[in-house]
Amino acid sequence: MIFDTDHNQLIQQFEDREVIHRDPIQQVNLQHYKFKQWLEENRLLKDILIYSCVVIANDKAKIIPKNNNGFLAKDVIRATKIRETVNNLFTRHKNEILLSKDLQKIRKWLIKQHTPSNPDLLNKLQIKKEELYTGVKCPRCLKLPIKRKYGKWVCPDCYSTSKDAYLTALRDYFLLINPSITTMELKDYLHLESRTTSQRLLSSLYLNHEGTTKNRIYHLNSH
Ligand SMILES: [Zn+2]
Repeated sequence: MIFDTDHNQLIQQFEDREVIHRDPIQQVNLQHYKFKQWLEENRLLKDILIYSCVVIANDKAKIIPKNNNGFLAKDVIRATKIRETVNNLFTRHKNEILLSKDLQKIRKWLIKQHTPSNPDLLNKLQIKKEELYTGVKCPRCLKLPIKRKYGKWVCPDCYSTSKDAYLTALRDYFLLINPSITTMELKDYLHLESRTTSQRLLSSLYLNHEGTTKNRIYHLNSH
């Protein structure tokens, strides 16, 4: 791995080819800056010293700076050096600035303000929506699709039944296809026979929604 800090790129070399990545040092510096800003904006801390570095987990990787003024050895370390690095920090900074209740407050805020990442996976992986297998999967033998009969999901192969097997399929839909769904879209996606069943399933989930009952759009809740 060649760290080219002049041009902010990481060049990864395999046997006969090269792959260019974003500069991890620049990335960690940005995270460092944003975290500091976040702490200040939320009035959690001011003027605190934050230490950040890039950790290379693959111990077979060869770390090469492109030039000598590129980066300091403390900016890029191997995973095996984490303990030593943290110990050194403890030795150098003996004053306790954060009490455990402060740390707990920061931890709570971080979790509260976390927004889960939901990348456009189909586009990223070059998979067409039509290529996906739809329907509900049997939680026991993984047969796809299984049928809904008398308020339950019944597997035609292993005969096991489930009340909520469709939830996994719906979660996949939200993550892969669209973070919102209509009654008709769910009917097609879950291979349901009636629109009423589709509507009943959706309204039982207490999802956020908009529009009249007929054309209602349901949105993925954060939970
Ligand atoms: Zn089954």
